[in-house]
Amino acid sequence: MPTLPRGLTETDFNTALDQFAAALGAEHVVTVDEDVALYRDAYSPLWNEPSELVASAAVVPTTVEQVQAIVRIANAHRIPLYPIATGKNLGYGGSAPNLSGSVVVDLKRMNRIIEVDDRRGFALVEPGVSYFDLYRHIEERGLKVWIDCPDPGWGSPVGNALDHGVGYTFGPFRDHFGSHCGMEVVLANGEVLRTGMGALPKAQSWQEYRYGFGPYVDGLFGQGNFGIVTKMGFWLMPQPEAYRAGLVLVPRRRDLIALVDHVNYLEHASLIGQPNYGCPLQRLVATEPELRALLEKPGGPTDDELDRFAASHGSAVWQCELQFYGPARTVDVNWEYAKERIAAAIPGARFEERESYRFPLSPQDKEGVPHKVALGIPNMAIFSIGARSEANPSPRDGHLWFAPVIPKSGEAILECQRVLGEVYRELGMGGSAFLQTPATWHFRAFIMLVGFSISRTDPAVNHRSLENFRRVVEVAAEHGWGEYRSPPVMADTIMSTYSFNDHALRRFCETLKDAADPNGIIAAGRGGIWPRYLRETPR
Ligand SMILES: Cc1cc2nc3c(=O)[nH]c(=O)nc-3n(C[C@H](O)[C@H](O)[C@H](O)COP(=O)(O)OP(=O)(O)OC[C@H]3O[C@@H](n4cnc5c(N)ncnc54)[C@H](O)[C@@H]3O)c2cc1C
Repeated sequence: MPTLPRGLTETDFNTALDQFAAALGAEHVVTVDEDVALYRDAYSPLWNEPSELVASAAVVPTTVEQVQAIVRIANAHRIPLYPIATGKNLGYGGSAPNLSGSVVVDLKRMNRIIEVDDRRGFALVEPGVSYFDLYRHIEERGLKVWIDCPDPGWGSPVGNALDHGVGYTFGPFRDHFGSHCGMEVVLANGEVLRTGMGALPKAQSWQEYRYGFGPYVDGLFGQGNFGIVTKMGFWLMPQPEAYRAGLVLVPRRRDLIALVDHVNYLEHASLIGQPNYGCPLQRLVATEPELRALLEKPGGPTDDELDRFAASHGSAVWQCELQFYGPARTVDVNWEYAKERIAAAIPGARFEERESYRFPLSPQDKEGVPHKVALGIPNMAIFSIGARSEANPSPRDGHLWFAPVIPKSGEAILECQRVLGEVYRELGMGGSAFLQTPATWHFRAFIMLVGFSISRTDPAVNHRSLENFRRVVEVAAEHGWGEYRSPPVMADTIMSTYSFNDHALRRFCETLKDAADPNGIIAAGRGGIWPRYLRETPR
């Protein structure tokens, strides 16, 4: 017996399923329990609990007209829908809905690559197109553009971008929503909307100029619940002639401040792609009791203590990998320039050469690339991290990440390390924040990741993770740091921190939601926005 949409009788639900079947073909309406179970969130912190978020059924359309038909049927019966592209959003809800009983609209069969133009630098795709599909399409045709992909290649440009997902090459392309241009959307009333230049019936530049005329509404569909996106354009990076990487190492803790300033300059001036910060002392934590004792001190080590420890072990305190893309001549000159600039500013800075490539790469060369996503090559290697091995016989079953956005400065990193250090201690979470460096996926801000384990067998682990997650969200918000993306179970908690002027943002979105989707059928609860009928009564 499925978890029915709230307020619906079994008879009504079955009538709706019959109507879905008439519109799509019975084989594209998923109702068998084992099949519906495939839409469970494999990383759910509520696994097997009565409150686990589960679908009632799924529908699998192939055309925009079928999506329109689904929306109209759902409206007639007040059935909540939950659209997914490839449904691989592990860590952020997988393919399970925000509201139990929703019917998943699985768009994987809408998988046409409509256009890739390597002269004007864009692609137009449907939601079911994966990063692997788009990459293969470009490779097979020898097109001179790169995609920017997240770590797992099985996801989709559309789904990833609509969750504000991120990648690994040049700043403007790493922000997948930021690099989209133009959408087609089926609205909650079944109408088809095209955004930007797409609103002009004979548009010639839908994927080139994003604003069109009037209000720019695309943002409503990212982490939002205002429609089902059926096409999306993306800007693509020109295939560079060459790539090279170099490592910068600096000897003192407070060198981080100047290092970030100079790396920011290089990045914002488009001389480098993603900078990857790290702390070489991390590798000494397991073997050096002196370092562990410093990290465990209340308040953490002083600058001098950490600097002395690093110097006595011949280690730098921080490092940053710089990645250069472009003509072979300019990547070499840019690396020389980066070295000169940083050496002049930070006494004792050292530099090491890393990989360099000329494109196109042969298939064998590609195999040998250690971090393929930095070259826009989709793959699944990320799942080997934390996998079962002799050293890790009981891997965790899943994870949630808290990823607060912090300013792009060394001072902010040091402050965040201190605050997270205190909160880890308060919550008994173990680990030390004092050597933690930020994730740099976003072009203009840092995020500091905090991971929480998920267990399939021990609900206590999950409850503790959720409790700790809520506390870290609260502490971060007190410091002006907010989450950029959320699993369904945390969406309300996160949205409640974006509370300026008595939650004006949420209230504005609710006003729009009630007007554009009065029956509240699209992705109820996504982004912390609920339709009226679910705001007014307990969920
Ligand atoms: C080990 C690991 C590493 C990861 N690394 C990264 C990473 O590097 N970068 C990153 O960004 N993420 C990462 N993720 C998270 C996730 O796997 C990816 O973001 C993935 O691309 C999302 O899945 P998807 O593309 O199938 O999107 P989907 O799951 O299909 O959709 C994502 C969200 O968008 C909404 N949506 C999808 N399609 C539509 C539509 N057509 N209309 C309206 N709404 C829609 C859905 O409701 C859903 O909430 C990682 C996860 C794991 C487990």
